[in-house]
Amino acid sequence: MGVMSTVDLTDAWSDLLRRRATFAPALAIYDELIRLWATTPVAVTPLDWDAGECAQRWERGVPLLAEATPRLESETVEPLLGPVLDIVGGLRGDAFDGLRAFAEAWDAGRLTVTSLFPARGQLGTVDQRIGLDRVLVGFISAATLRPLLEPYFVAVRDHLADGVWQLGVCPFCGAPPGFSDVVEDGRRRLACHVCGSGWTASRMWCSFCGNTDSQDLRRLEPESGDEGYFISSCTKCRGYLKELDRRVRWNGGPALVEDWGSPHLDLVAQRSGYWRALPSIVELGKKGDS
Ligand SMILES: [Zn+2]
Ligand SMILES: [Zn+2]
Repeated sequence: MGVMSTVDLTDAWSDLLRRRATFAPALAIYDELIRLWATTPVAVTPLDWDAGECAQRWERGVPLLAEATPRLESETVEPLLGPVLDIVGGLRGDAFDGLRAFAEAWDAGRLTVTSLFPARGQLGTVDQRIGLDRVLVGFISAATLRPLLEPYFVAVRDHLADGVWQLGVCPFCGAPPGFSDVVEDGRRRLACHVCGSGWTASRMWCSFCGNTDSQDLRRLEPESGDEGYFISSCTKCRGYLKELDRRVRWNGGPALVEDWGSPHLDLVAQRSGYWRALPSIVELGKKGDS
């Protein structure tokens, strides 16, 4: 039996909202999620592989979750999943039928927590016939999994040595990165929002398509007042990641909080025709047809 744990980003989120007060009304959906995570303790038995067992997967390019089988009972998952579906329903009235079909499939056992796991660079393998677009499935997956997978990987996180993992998905859960940090020594660290892990990566490299051609890798800078924040984009696959240079902005919050708190940068990137792998509030608010 695992210990009860929560993901509590309450203080970091309050601090972000103080710094970005004009965005607060637009970010209300995240208030609900932060509250849900902080007030829903979950019992998860951490993965107990040793460094060798982890390295064996990483050297083959396999994220741990692909070969691990976490015991996540419905009673553990549903207190998170139920409210997440409600949050999505409140935001997207047009998704009513899809959400109902999702809930029915869940109750019938046709969908389980593994249907939410990252696979092949996307989040969730929910059948398209359910009628939920990929943005919504991605959001539901990430919002439900974070409080479950963060404690699941707690004991193996330190086993990852620098340079062992060279891929563009999380070495622990397999999700694409959600944000990127330039840390104190100038290295780039990609952040996984789905399990709360991170891994170092080259700064001249597109994590989505592997492109290393400096001519294709563009840095979009926000206009003003956002020192330290920038957008890394790739003209080949049109993917982008928001980044924060922690050497310039030392008082920034956790990567997830900084990502959620900077929707204006997503607008800049998306107006220029770039896409992101993990959905943000910007795509979520759109009536979906993708
Ligand atoms: Zn992860
Ligand atoms: Zn690319």
